[in-house]
Amino acid sequence: MKKSPSESFRSIKGTFDVLPAASSADGRAIAGSGAWRRVEQVVVEVMQRYGAREIRTPILEPTGLIARGIGQLTDIVSKEMFAFEREDTHYVLRPEVTAPVMRAYLQHHLDQERSVQKLFYIGPCFRAERPQKGRYRQFHQFGVEYIGTDNVRADAEVVTMMVDVYRALGINDLRLRVNTLGDEEARPAFKQALQSFLEPYADELSETSQRRLVENPLRILDTKNPRERELLEDAPSLIDFVSTASRDRYSALLEMLESVGIHYIEDPFLVRGLDYYTETAFELESDLLDSAQSALAGGGRYDLLATEIGAKNHTPAVGFAAGIERLFLALESAGRVPAVDESPDIFVVLVDSDGDAWATSFAHQLRSAGVSCDIDLSGRSVKAQMREANRVGARHVIVIGENERSAKTAKLKKMADGTEHEVPLSADDIRPLCIPD
Ligand code: AMP
Repeated sequence: MKKSPSESFRSIKGTFDVLPAASSADGRAIAGSGAWRRVEQVVVEVMQRYGAREIRTPILEPTGLIARGIGQLTDIVSKEMFAFEREDTHYVLRPEVTAPVMRAYLQHHLDQERSVQKLFYIGPCFRAERPQKGRYRQFHQFGVEYIGTDNVRADAEVVTMMVDVYRALGINDLRLRVNTLGDEEARPAFKQALQSFLEPYADELSETSQRRLVENPLRILDTKNPRERELLEDAPSLIDFVSTASRDRYSALLEMLESVGIHYIEDPFLVRGLDYYTETAFELESDLLDSAQSALAGGGRYDLLATEIGAKNHTPAVGFAAGIERLFLALESAGRVPAVDESPDIFVVLVDSDGDAWATSFAHQLRSAGVSCDIDLSGRSVKAQMREANRVGARHVIVIGENERSAKTAKLKKMADGTEHEVPLSADDIRPLCIPD
């Protein structure tokens, strides 16, 4: 639809601008871009400690990859994809990053580069959900995928790495729920048993659960509906369908988590509703978030995904995905949003405009020497420039006019205590005063 020239545009519902300073929109507090960068830095630092390396995949992916990779029957694929068609090609804005990472791994034969690839990502995802607190249409995820190993220590590393990110940011109010889904054989048998158990109660189930009963009964285990939860108390238990090998594997994982001081809650109802998930499943929650959107992150082992999207060889993998907006909600409740100082080292106040070229060169010299430098760009009065220097929080101010230029010295004022130093107008002399080693 055409907008008239006078009509102003606004960001799309469920999407947000991250501004230089903290802001708010639709009742949502949005941290400033500096805090985002700092949080992302910590995320990256933690993942790098584990030897994970970054992968950047496109925002646009073939719809088929996501449909197969996540599963036709999931909410994401059945109703939440931003998908479109252009010249006979079907595109989707990625709703998550696991399937894209696996696609890239297979496409570029990354198994030949390393036997185990630890790939982390950080970036936007898109889901056409009803926007509400903690649930947006464009949101950001970070996560890791360990591809090429079925060793349970990989599962433990992934969980530990995830928890370490939150701890590194000062969030300790964490609840880790874990479960085992068993191997390829266990799931179909359990699915069948659950279906047979629930069928007689089909009329009592919500419309969604009735649909799931036919299409994807494991998802019913996630239900928050009190009547359904009551029914499920007597339902067959997944653990009874799991092989001894899977149980041993699960015990080993729990022991490893204990060895690194990670508390967990075993939750037999925790399922990742997709057929390609096997063995380990986990979710990280926090009471710092509202109960409806309390999940900070989730993940598990997905040994069957690769073959689902076309791999010839069995390619075991395990990973987690975490929401950055939810992380910020937790940081806000905990009062832990990182403070970032973006104020310039120095503000150059110009008394006259005669020395314009000189001023440009002076500021450039300072910047080249690594000093962050702000300088008037509007031809304002000295008083107005001083006010601006205060507003931007400049740590030092230097006032330069004709006299200073000819004497090649000026007074450098330290704003914190008002002290002044006469300094030569050279970056080499000013730098050490502005940026102490
Ligand atoms: P999922 O891929 O659904 O397991 O999501 C992994 C994590 O991404 C969740 O635990 C949330 O933290 C976050 N997340 C998922 N969907 C959204 C959304 N629509 N808005 C904000 N965060 C989301």
